Amino acid sequence: MGLTVHPNIAKLVPYSPGKPLDELERELGICDAVKLASNENPLGPSPKALAALRDAGGTLHRYPDGGAHHLTRALADRWKMVPNQIIVGNGSDEIISLLVKAFLSPGEEAVMADHTFVMYKLAVTGGHGIPIEVPLTNWRHDLPAMAKAVTDRTRLLFVCNPNNPTGTMVTRTDVEALMTAVPDHVIVVFDEAYYEYVRDPQFPDSIHFVKQNRPVVVLRTFSKIYGLAGLRIGYGITTPEILNFLHRVRNPFNTNSLAQQAALAALQDEDHVATSRALNEVEMATVEKGLQALGLNPLPSQANFLYFDTKRDGPQLFEKLLQEGVIIRHIRGSLVRVTIGKPDENARFLDALAKVLEQVPCVDQGMPHP
Ligand SMILES: *Cc1c(COP(=O)(O)O)cnc(C)c1O
Repeated sequence: MGLTVHPNIAKLVPYSPGKPLDELERELGICDAVKLASNENPLGPSPKALAALRDAGGTLHRYPDGGAHHLTRALADRWKMVPNQIIVGNGSDEIISLLVKAFLSPGEEAVMADHTFVMYKLAVTGGHGIPIEVPLTNWRHDLPAMAKAVTDRTRLLFVCNPNNPTGTMVTRTDVEALMTAVPDHVIVVFDEAYYEYVRDPQFPDSIHFVKQNRPVVVLRTFSKIYGLAGLRIGYGITTPEILNFLHRVRNPFNTNSLAQQAALAALQDEDHVATSRALNEVEMATVEKGLQALGLNPLPSQANFLYFDTKRDGPQLFEKLLQEGVIIRHIRGSLVRVTIGKPDENARFLDALAKVLEQVPCVDQGMPHP
């Protein structure tokens, strides 16, 4: 008998990681390719995190602290919570998987936007649940429609805020209405991977719902502004009740000791975070202006990336940019996402884009301008 696999697994499309920078450089015979594809911090990790990594090396023969004691305490202090409201994961991706594993039985539903972080759909489908995808309105989550999509079979509802890939956000008022409309058998997951970049004062205080003991999970990560994507570490803030079930389904040593120590040091390096945020703000404005000068209109973004309609065949434009040594993310059709980099990287991107826009024929797919 041959290999058999459940149809839900067979229909999954593996996540496409894109070409590594050094591989592209080898192919092109250059040494200054630019990667603006994964929303990483262009400044890299905090020097304090790097120092912590060197110190941690000597204990690598030991298993990590399975409870991530020190990091959990520091995060609890930071958010004025207690340690049994914090769970640390192998990236916040892992916590999404743990939520599915703990709370979604086969055939049960998870509500999400139709144009958002792919991990929700992957995890839900792979966990034999049913993703219920609600279209964005004006490139933002349609929270009233998402609340209406809730049924007796709904277990999870994902709000990616700011949303990846659009960079748009929902406000405090939007979220309060959602939390009034959604019944308590649904866990509302606020994925706030870009929280530290947000500038809009209307951004919701989602931790507040956890403090009220509502069934809410707030996801944050060390992969973005903290510059530790390669170590894989993120966390969730939630109620002790939800936390207890998540701990039952996680691997005992889900986060490694290097990641725990580096994250702890990174959390304390507030200067590095402030510098990174300031750079992003200035450079985002520069890239926005550069795109507008090319006749393109990025959506207003609260994160560290811009989403825009190239008005060109997307895959072709992406390939041409690669040939120029610039890696961005093609999303669908004529739509792409570009991460804000350092000044020289952004200039490289804008120059290369100006060049390839001339080479790729126009398509009329059209993104209605907000
Ligand atoms: C990058 C990102 C994450 C972070 O994932 P990690 O597993 O913590 O690296 C989570 N959610 C969204 C929406 C993201 O864009």
